[in-house]
Order: sequence, then structure tokens, then C-alpha cells
Amino acid sequence: MAVPLFDTTTPLASLHAEIDAAIAGVVASRKFILGPQVGAFEAEFAAFCGTRHAVGVANGTDAITIALRAMGVGPGDDVVVPSFTFYATAEAVPPTGARPVFCDVDPDTYCVTAETVAAAMTPATKAVVAVHLFGNLAPVADIEALGVPVLEDAAQAAGTRSAAGRPGALGRAGTFSFFPSKNLGCYGDGGAITTGDDALAEAARMLRFHGSHDKVTYEHVGYNSRLDELQAAILRVQLPLVDDWAAGRRAAARHYEDAGLGELVSLPAATAGCEPAWHLYVVRSDRADELAAGLGARGIGAKAYYRVPVHRQPAMRAIAGAVSLPVTDDLAATHLAIPMSPVLTAEQAAEVTAAVRAVLA
Ligand SMILES: *Cc1c(COP(=O)(O)O)cnc(C)c1O
Repeated sequence: MAVPLFDTTTPLASLHAEIDAAIAGVVASRKFILGPQVGAFEAEFAAFCGTRHAVGVANGTDAITIALRAMGVGPGDDVVVPSFTFYATAEAVPPTGARPVFCDVDPDTYCVTAETVAAAMTPATKAVVAVHLFGNLAPVADIEALGVPVLEDAAQAAGTRSAAGRPGALGRAGTFSFFPSKNLGCYGDGGAITTGDDALAEAARMLRFHGSHDKVTYEHVGYNSRLDELQAAILRVQLPLVDDWAAGRRAAARHYEDAGLGELVSLPAATAGCEPAWHLYVVRSDRADELAAGLGARGIGAKAYYRVPVHRQPAMRAIAGAVSLPVTDDLAATHLAIPMSPVLTAEQAAEVTAAVRAVLA
């Protein structure tokens, strides 16, 4: 039995009619940009996250750039970012004029910690981008205790919960991506910035619309970066199901544990107090490439997403300088994503585990 790396089709199957009707409604309204659907989604998504504001933007990368600028980040500033993340986390920093400074991560949670951030801070550090990687939670309060504001990159963490609150409501601001494969995905590109800070939200609203709040006076050099009405309407249909999907992802992780996968490879560790909506289920093995090939040969999806960490990518090498990130380098070499979705069954987890056992035997 083949098991795909992810399944974005089955969870949406019951919603097709409702989504098609929502699309038809937007088309009939002839309102495509910054209309009632975006406004309603922003209110619903802010409430979902447990914060005051959500600002819809074109994608999760723009969300980081715009949020950092709304936080006052600009030329001459340093922004601490992890290197073990999707490239866009760091790529979003230079367009603000600031410099990304790379930090290491925890070997078990894969997220930044107060210690790894503190080791990378400089006198010019203006903000930290804490990535809630794979749906796990970075310790935002511990990092803000260092005296620096945190922007949460929650692109992979919609549906994650913690005792302290949800991603997007823990730092100065949070950013989300609604790329189709994310935990909450639209039918194209989309993103959002969340914050409890009224002034920051207003600045983000201006920046996404050419630096203007009235389309008459242009106060900043901004962006054309909006979530559109069709995507907002599609997201509104899905939002009520995100928590169920997250529960399905947590159940899938338990299925792997129950199947004994932890005896064969290292499993990801949830951050203390966090219930992760595992976006990807990423294990570690010294034989990760051999494992990926063997699983592929058995029809089981497996992929190393970040084999070359961001600070070693061609575009970032000069910016990163001679930074030493031993945990990042080790994770880059040993990590492997195996099948994860809201609908992964115990049988599928047992199948994957048996295949891992066979490959590593
Ligand atoms: C997907 C992702 C982004 C970028 O989002 P886009 O919508 O693709 O621009 C940023 N950070 C992380 C951690 C991501 O996974």
C-alpha cells in the first residue's frame, strides 16, 4: 500500500460544493480586491488566533517583509532568523533594508530557543523571526524576555495550540502563509499578518496598499500585496475545520509513536506546553538519504526539505558570513519528512513504520 507524503485532497472533499458556491458568489459580486470576503476573513482569522487584528496579504513571504517594516525594521538593523527553515523566512529580511543574522535551533524541537537567539544577537538587533517550524512552537515569551520583539513565522503552524495561546498571538506580530499545501491553504497564493497592536496593524494595512490608507496620499514606499476576495472566500469555508485537521495531525503522530517508529529513528519533540498541528512529520536518522530512497522504492513518500540550510544557500552565503551553526548542519544532514496529513490512519502509520524497519534492517 502506497502512502503519500501529504494528502491535501481528502480533507477538502466534503467542502467542494461549499467552496464552489463561495467562488461563484465572489464572481457574481464582481468585487475581487479588498471587499467583504477579505474583511470577514480577517475578523474570523484574528478571532481564531486569539488576537485583535489580521491583515490579509498576497503570500507568507510578503507577510514577513511587511510585518517587519510595520515593526519599524529598516536599513542598519539586524534581524535574527533561524537557518533551519524554509528559505523565505530569511529572504524576506533584505527587502526591508535590514540584515538577516542566522541562529541555531534546538536539536529536538527544531525551533529557535532563547539561548540560540541570544548567541546571535548584536547591538543592532531590532527583531527576531521565530519560526514555528513544522507546526511545533518556538518559545516566544522566553525570546522576548531577552528584550527584543518577536515576529512569529507561523506559516506552518495554523491549528497549533499552547497553554500561552495560539501562534500569531504570542509575539509582537505573526505571519501566515495560505499556500495550498499549508495547514490552512487556499486555491493559489495568500498570507496574513496578525497582531494585537493597533498601530502595527494600521501600518501593515497601509504597506500592503502602496503605503496609502486612502488611495490619495502615499505616505510610504509600500507594496501591492493583498489577499484577494476569491482566496478569502475559500479560506472562510475551511477555517472552521482547521482545529479538526490539527487533531488529525496529532493523532497521526500518535499512530507513529504507537507503531514503534521511535525505536528506529528519532521523533520530533513537541515544545513544552504545545499541541503541535504537525505540518510535516520530520524524523532524524544518520541514514536519512538511504532511508528516503528505500521508502520511495516502497511507494512511501519521504523528502528532505532543507538538506542545504539557508545560511549555506548561494544567495545567503555572503550575508551569513562565517557563522557556525552545528545543530542546523546536523539536522540538515539527518532530517527526513515522512507521510503526514489530517487523515493519516493507524494502518498507514504501521505501514510506514514497517517500511522504515525494513530499509534500516
Ligand atoms: C511557506 C513558508 C513561508 C512562505 O510562504 P509563501 O506563502 O510561500 O510566500 C515562509 N516561512 C515558512 C516557514 C514557510 O513554510
